[in-house]
Amino acid sequence: MKENCEKNFERISEYLDGELGRGACLQIEQHLMECPECRDCFEALKKTIALCREGAREEIPGDMRERLRSKLRDCFNCH
Ligand SMILES: [Zn+2]
Repeated sequence: MKENCEKNFERISEYLDGELGRGACLQIEQHLMECPECRDCFEALKKTIALCREGAREEIPGDMRERLRSKLRDCFNCH
């Protein structure tokens, strides 16, 4: 895992939850544009979250977040 990717990865679940400020979001978006590996992970993750939200129609529960984190980790580790 590249150093930048690791930083990005740490914040991406917060990013998807809309918990980050504008500056942090821009940093992540910038990284996603430059890094195809992260973009792939991100797209896969977004789909998972969308499905999850459609089903639940509420906040992502804590265990779901944990699952998303481990999914992300798997995804990054395979690159
Ligand atoms: Zn990356």
